[in-house]
Amino acid sequence: MSSQLISQRIAAVIDAVAPVTRFFSESAWARRMGDPDVADFAFGNPQEMPLPGFVEALGKWSVPQNKDWFAYKNNEPASCAVVAAALRERRGLPFEDEDIFLTNGAFAAIAVSLCALVNPGDEVIFITPPWFFYEALILTYGGRPVRVKVNQENFDLDIDAIAGAITERTRAIIVNSPNNPTGKIYPPSTLTRLADLLTSASERNGRAIYLLSDEAYSRIVFDGREYPSPVAFYPDSLLLYTYAKTLLTPGQRIGYIALPPTMPGREVIREALFAAQVITGFAFPNALLQHALPDLEDLSVDIAHLQYKRDWLVRELREMGYRLHVPEGTFYLMAQSPTQDDWAFTELLASHDVLCLPGTIVEAPGYFRISLTANDSMIERALPGFAAAFQESGVGNRESGIGS
Ligand code: PMP
Repeated sequence: MSSQLISQRIAAVIDAVAPVTRFFSESAWARRMGDPDVADFAFGNPQEMPLPGFVEALGKWSVPQNKDWFAYKNNEPASCAVVAAALRERRGLPFEDEDIFLTNGAFAAIAVSLCALVNPGDEVIFITPPWFFYEALILTYGGRPVRVKVNQENFDLDIDAIAGAITERTRAIIVNSPNNPTGKIYPPSTLTRLADLLTSASERNGRAIYLLSDEAYSRIVFDGREYPSPVAFYPDSLLLYTYAKTLLTPGQRIGYIALPPTMPGREVIREALFAAQVITGFAFPNALLQHALPDLEDLSVDIAHLQYKRDWLVRELREMGYRLHVPEGTFYLMAQSPTQDDWAFTELLASHDVLCLPGTIVEAPGYFRISLTANDSMIERALPGFAAAFQESGVGNRESGIGS
């Protein structure tokens, strides 16, 4: 897109998000979302009433306790202390209160980090299939986006490919584990190799390559797994988190950036992050959410029930003939489209009242994504539609490396 009326930067952003925009405006989902007859698996949005504990916390903390209750808030010391204490307990690393920066979700955590660290023309690596907005955010903060594909067989990081993409201009790499959309949790062996690679490349370059660790789903993990955080493996890391997934409240925006105590030179980074928070539009969570944090930190959606829905869908869809990758975490299930044209296949599903996200939208052509936030009755209703669409696609199983 080009226009004299708007900035070149935002024009590039509009181009980068064009596939998502198209889905929002032209898909069956755009036409039918909200229709009570459809089962909506397209996004990680709540399909049930919010957690009672969440509603109670907002009610309780909305009552002002002093005249400054709703005054300007930035990184409120009490809120940062709650986050640091929770991280110390969950991660076993001595996170400090001063290293917590409160943001409007992971979205702003990524924006603020890039704003603080990236020089014009610096390269920022991200892994594809990616979350929708990495490329656009990198462009916004003057970086050059560099894509690296995951291993197509097992969705693990391809460390050799990352090594091949690093240059002397590489400033950062964004890693998202558990991964949206693949559901993969990168194992310690991979994270060790990544850390070794980034350490030697940083030394060679004479400046740090930062690891932006997007941990939006770090508390949505299945089968009793431990979550290995990339931050524990590589000191020049920024831990980026949002409460939106754990609480399933993405419209109430709160998250954070945490610097690990192992990070060198973090006094300078602290100052840069604070300046970036201010300059990206006072990107602090609103006062009410900050006050409520002590009550929100321990709350979570029912992970066992998410896992139950995962297992239920995996079982049924496989019986119908779909090929799937079983997610280790996140809200998402990636299934192969029986036909290569995943957009057409999701339109076919929609004709059976089932709404899913075409893989093309997240750079995963030939797949479609199913959100496990759908409620039980939606799943029940959708199963015949999934079966009918598979039959009508008329293709049966395609060959693929992804069979488990
Ligand atoms: N990163 C990933 C991987 C996500 O899936 C999302 C939300 N879908 C975000 C970042 C942004 O999270 P939030 O909207 O809570 O800021």
